[in-house]
Amino acid sequence: MALKQDFMDKIYFDNSATTPLATEVIEVLIDSFKNSFANPSSIHELGRSAKKRIEEARTFIARSINAEPHEIFFLSGATEGNNTVFKACNYDLIITSPSEHASVIEAAKASRQEIIWLNLDQEGYISLNELENILAKNSNAGNGVLQRSPKKILVSIMHANSEIGTIQNLKAIGDLCEKYKATFHSDCVQSLGKLDIDVKNYKLDLISASAHKLHGPKGLGFIYIAEKLQDHILDKALITGGGQERGFRAGTENVNGIIAFAKALEISLDPEKRNKVKELQKKLWLKIKNLKSVILNGPKNLEKRLSGNLNLSFMDLKFNSEQLVLQLDLKGICVSSGSACTSNKKNTAEIIESSYVLRACQIDEDIARRAIRISLSWMNDEAELEKLTEIITKLV
Ligand code: PLP
Repeated sequence: MALKQDFMDKIYFDNSATTPLATEVIEVLIDSFKNSFANPSSIHELGRSAKKRIEEARTFIARSINAEPHEIFFLSGATEGNNTVFKACNYDLIITSPSEHASVIEAAKASRQEIIWLNLDQEGYISLNELENILAKNSNAGNGVLQRSPKKILVSIMHANSEIGTIQNLKAIGDLCEKYKATFHSDCVQSLGKLDIDVKNYKLDLISASAHKLHGPKGLGFIYIAEKLQDHILDKALITGGGQERGFRAGTENVNGIIAFAKALEISLDPEKRNKVKELQKKLWLKIKNLKSVILNGPKNLEKRLSGNLNLSFMDLKFNSEQLVLQLDLKGICVSSGSACTSNKKNTAEIIESSYVLRACQIDEDIARRAIRISLSWMNDEAELEKLTEIITKLV
């Protein structure tokens, strides 16, 4: 049966929040539930076989980002990965941006270290000049001026923004971090499988990622820790116990999830699927851009935008973001008004508060309060785009 028929006849355009499992991933999961159930720490053949499948998945994932298998640590998702970065590693100064995911922002604040928030332009980009100035002022390297007590600096900048699709220049940020001897972390949740990630070329020290944004299962992610950092970090595990993941993240491994994660990543890396999402994004924008008073939030150039992401404000509609999301929901279309995680935080007084990402980009409040996010995947098709355009045209 085609997967789509299982979505209660809904059209699903909320793939940045989470994705449905790919059929091949479901097949791998079923096989793994049946055959790889043994505890990977058991030394009998079934245990060894489960362990082998974990290591194959680890190797595949590592190679896809130009890392080594021993630099990948599985955990419950990117929220845990991001928390691990800020809570297990000790820094004196954190440099980050106000458009990061809540798990970065809250974990950074909870670390009680000094934080410098970078400014964003209206398309959501950080300024490399501003970053360099801050690094030069606070580090002991690169500026020729020796400071008495150099700070341990962590720069944490997400690769692709989940709401407005801005792709940051990780290569340039990595070069600056290397020059000023800062540790470089990136939340790559939205980019893994969609954009090329090369941890060596980008000089990344830490990244966090999650399986459920690329048609893999929920509750599974990884953190990449560059080998050179491991001596300082591996003894600071947040979860201790049976010594799994080389003692860094204890608990019986999520064997099924890990195997499924590797399969989901393999599928996402297929160039045809990656192109399809780009094409669908272009086609949808071409259909929508001539509608009355529509504004594209985030990068205007689609080539520079995360594939599949369109963040739109319809200025002539009488609905705010949430009302429009609910109107579309009534017609069987799932989109969102921002990051799914922030909707858990709303109280009634805040219910029509605009997206914190758009506010950080200094987008006019009237535009921000009307923004909706449409996020496509390779599981979508043109007929679905047509339906969405038809419904929005009628509303407009
Ligand atoms: N970072 C980004 C950019 C995200 O979009 C998300 C999920 O919404 C997360 C982190 C959290 O990931 P997880 O759901 O695996 O905890």
